[in-house]
Formats: sequence, C-alpha cells, structure tokens
Amino acid sequence: MDLKYNIYYEVASAIFLIILFFFMRLQYDTQSSVNKEFQKLTLFALFADIMDVVTAVTISNALIVPVWANILLNSLYFISTELLGYHFVDYSTFYVYRSRKDNLLMRINKLLLGLFFVLVFINFFTGCIFSFSEEGLYVHGPLYLVIYILPYYYIMCSGMILICNFQRFRPWQRISIVFYLILEISGPLLQMLFFPDVLLAIFTIALGLLMMLFTMETPDYQNLVATIKELRETKKVAEEAKEEAERAKVMAQEADQAKTDFLANMSHEIRTPINAILGYNEIIMKETKESATAEYAMNVQAAGRTLLSIINDILDFTNIDRGELKLENTPYYVLSLLQDVIIYAEHNTQKKNLELRVSVDEQMPKQLSGDIVRLRQIVNNLLSNAIKYTMDGFVELRVTWKQKSDTIGIMEVSVSDSGIGMKKEDVQRISKSFLRFDPKKTRDIQGIGLGLTIVSRLLKLMDGELRINSEYGTGSTFSFRIEQTIIDEVPIGKLEYKKNKELILKQEEEEEFVAPKAHILAVDDNIMNLELFCGILKDTRISIDTAANGKEALALLMKNTYHIVFLDHMMPV
Ligand code: ADP
Repeated sequence: MDLKYNIYYEVASAIFLIILFFFMRLQYDTQSSVNKEFQKLTLFALFADIMDVVTAVTISNALIVPVWANILLNSLYFISTELLGYHFVDYSTFYVYRSRKDNLLMRINKLLLGLFFVLVFINFFTGCIFSFSEEGLYVHGPLYLVIYILPYYYIMCSGMILICNFQRFRPWQRISIVFYLILEISGPLLQMLFFPDVLLAIFTIALGLLMMLFTMETPDYQNLVATIKELRETKKVAEEAKEEAERAKVMAQEADQAKTDFLANMSHEIRTPINAILGYNEIIMKETKESATAEYAMNVQAAGRTLLSIINDILDFTNIDRGELKLENTPYYVLSLLQDVIIYAEHNTQKKNLELRVSVDEQMPKQLSGDIVRLRQIVNNLLSNAIKYTMDGFVELRVTWKQKSDTIGIMEVSVSDSGIGMKKEDVQRISKSFLRFDPKKTRDIQGIGLGLTIVSRLLKLMDGELRINSEYGTGSTFSFRIEQTIIDEVPIGKLEYKKNKELILKQEEEEEFVAPKAHILAVDDNIMNLELFCGILKDTRISIDTAANGKEALALLMKNTYHIVFLDHMMPV
C-alpha cells in the first residue's frame, strides 16, 4: 500500500485523542455542560483526524479505490474539519458565557456551515472544490481554498471570543489561551505552506486541546485554585478580624484597667474624709451631754460605718483584681476569731429578732496559723448576708475540724439561714461582681453585690472554694474548707460564746486608758486628721506634738524624744 503523505503525526494524535476522550469521561464530572462540550470537541477532532488518515491512504491508492468512494471520503473529511472548526467557536462561546449563545455571529456560522454542506454536495457533480482524474490524481477545483478558509475563519472567531473576554480569565490562563490559539493556527498553516506531505493539522489541534484541558477543563484543579484563593481571602479577612478583636480586647482591657484604677483611687480618696467624719463624730459622741445629739451622732456613725465598709470592699476588690492583695500567714487564736464573728452575728441577729445558732467543734486546736483578718472578713461577710437576707427564723454558724497530719488540719465553716434563698441560675452567676439577684426582694436591702465576689476570690487565694446550697424561698448554706497550720493543738473545748460576750461588754465598761507621761508625735499633711488625732486621744492625757510635713517632723525629732511617732506616708517637703 502506497502512502503519499506522512500520517504518523495524525495516527499519534488519533491515539492521543482517544485517550483524552476516555480520560475526560472517566476522570471528570460528565454532568458539567462545559465538560460535555469539550468532550464533543475531542470527538470531532478525533473524527477529523481519522478521516484525515483514511483519506491520506485512499488518495495515495486512488487507482484501486473507486473515485466515488474517494470523493465521498474526502467530502466527509472536509465536513469533519468544518464541523471541528464550528465546534471551536461553539465551545469558546460556551466556555466564556457558560451557555450556548444564539447571536448573530452564531447564526452566520451556522449558515456558513450549511452553505459548505451544499457546496460539498455540488462538488460531487462539478468538482468545484476537488475531484480525481482518471489517473487517480487529486485535482484542486476553483473553490479549493474554501476548505482552508472556513476552518481558519472558525478558529479566528473562537480566538476573538476568548481574547475579547480576556478579563474573565486569570493571567496564567490568558497565556495558555494565546498558546492554544497559536497551536490551533500553526498546524494547518505549517502543513499548507511548508509541509504539504506531512499531515500536521489535527496533531497541533490535539496539542492545543490538551493545553486547554489543563488550563480550563480541569474542574477539580480549578475548584482547588478557587478554593485556595477563597481560603486566602478568608484567611485575610479572619486575620483582619482577629487584629480588630485584639485591638478591641486591648481597648477593653485598658478601659477595665482605667475603671479599676478609678475605683481604687476614688475609694482611697473617699476613705480619708470618711475617717475624718467618723473620727469627729466619735468625739461628738464622747463629749456631748445632750441625748438627742448623741443619738444623731450614733446614726451618723452607723451610716458612716456602712459607707466605710462599702469603700473597703471596693478597695479589696480592686486590690484582688490587680493581684496586689497578699495573704498573711501568722499565728492566731481560734477563740479570738470565733469571738469576733459571733459577737458581730449576735449583735445583728438580735436587732432582727433572729435566732443565732452556733456549733463549734470542740476538737478545734487552740492556735492556728493563717490570715485571721481575711478569714474574719470572709465569715463576717457570709454571716452578714445570712442576716441581711433572712426575715425570720435562724442563722447558723458551724465550724468543724478535721486533722490531716500532725501539723495540718482542715477547717470547715458553714453559714446557713432560713432566708429568701436563691434560684439555681443565680447561684451559678454568683461569682460575677456587682450582681444582685431577686431585685423585688433585695431592693430594700443594702449591698452593692461585691461581698461574695470578694469572699470567693479570697478563698481562692487560700486554696479553698465557696460552696453554695440554696433553695429558693427556704434558705441557703454557704460553706468552705481551708487548710490551716496547727500552732497549738490543745482543743478549744466547749464554746460558751455568751460568756465571752459578757466579757467583752465588761471590758468596754472598764476604766478609760490614760498615759500622762507619754509623749508622741503625729505627722500628717492633712491638718484635719491631726486635729482629729488630738481630739480622740484627749482623754488619755498623752502629750501630743504635731507636724504638717517631713521638714517640721525632723526638726521636732531633733529637739524632743518621742515614745511613738505616727507618720503618714507620701508627705510633702
Ligand atoms: P450584696 O449582698 O452586697 O448585694 P453579695 O455579693 O454579698 O452582694 O451577694 C450577691 C447577691 O447574692 C445578693 O444581692 C443576693 O441577691 C444574693 N445572696 C447573697 N447571700 C444570700 C443569702 N444568704 N440568701 C439569699 N440571697 C443571698
């Protein structure tokens, strides 16, 4: 069998197109319409490629192939190349617009295709495009160039559609499109102008299609690229949001710090004049002979003490908040602690006609080590709440002891009441500062919602935890357990708190303290405080010198000998 043409490139591209087609079918989502169009294009290319090879064989052997068959096969070949060209335009339109367009261009293209079919039909009878001579030679007709011009026109159209819509593609896709177009054009051109015997057209077209596959027709890859891009954008947005949140957090922290500082400064500033008020009021109470004035002064004292305790709470809270509050660890007498808190509770329960129940473990050691001031504050706070939120019934203080080792034991304190109780959801929120619950019932009860916050935080510093057991409308139990070091293990025995109370009252009635030989110096830049100092100690008959600044104080110290110097801190001069 003779071969006038080199068909190897076209055979290779036929194999290659078959692989490409099946690869597309098996690998890609065949439901995607753009993909379907691409597969169609591959099939048309394959069809044209096969026809190119077949006609190369039949033309080369024209003597043994009947003329009509050769004309028919070549007509089919030309039809296949025009169909391929037409589908290039179709595919490009579909790719760019994601749907088939029925515009003027497409109608012209269809018309041209139709005219070409007619021309091919006419060619059968006239040989206007091509024909075969008696000797089996391939003869070009006057309209022969049409078979090249029309596919080129289609490739140009498809190129124009892609180039006109360049902005829809990413930069690297644009490069691929240019190469694709160069390949589509170059094959037929090379064959026509330089290598008429080498069938190249479909080979370069197939290469172009492969290029298209990797740049456009890889939905998975495209999706990946799109997803990566989206992820990058999302990450950028998230980072911006994070930065914004961090800025907001810093601002909130600064605002919170400013609030805490303000509270601390304000409380400190208020404490000084309140102390003056309470001090002067004490002098009034002591010196007045009129019972009405004494009563007013007592009221001032009560209100002033409440105010002072609020201010102290705020100061404690801010100190704990800033981490500035440090616990002491010093020996204390358990009896002293109990006495203080019981007397406090006794006094206040009596005022409200509540029963005070006290039960203290007889095995409690006599002396422990810890922070008695803060411990007293915790128990007093719980007792004060129990009394505040109980209208009738009882308030109970229970203290139990569990020895852990020779030197360490666990003290458990619980304060119960038959008061208003708390709702479950409120109990969960109890550690939040400034919260007060059940406004209907607690509106008329004094408080700022800091007591339990301070208690919880102090207990945390002591490695303890506040436990709450409360039933709404029935009563509550607040309890905690803390470890204390034993200093003196002798048990305190049965506690008779009433007896101790009498003892205390008796002490108060004792003769007043005097020290006429004592000589002391008080230094404060606040003149009112100095006056107050002297006023309160007047009855002691102590000789008191005062100085308003450091320089004056030093001058006095050079001159005299003092038993005690009371010195304010951060003073001028
Ligand atoms: P305050 O008593 O100053 O309002 P606290 O922090 O001590 O602040 O208490 C917070 C809230 O918890 C109180 O306002 C009250 O609603 C509730 N509460 C505390 N103790 C009791 C109690 N023994 N019985 C019922 N409610 C209580």
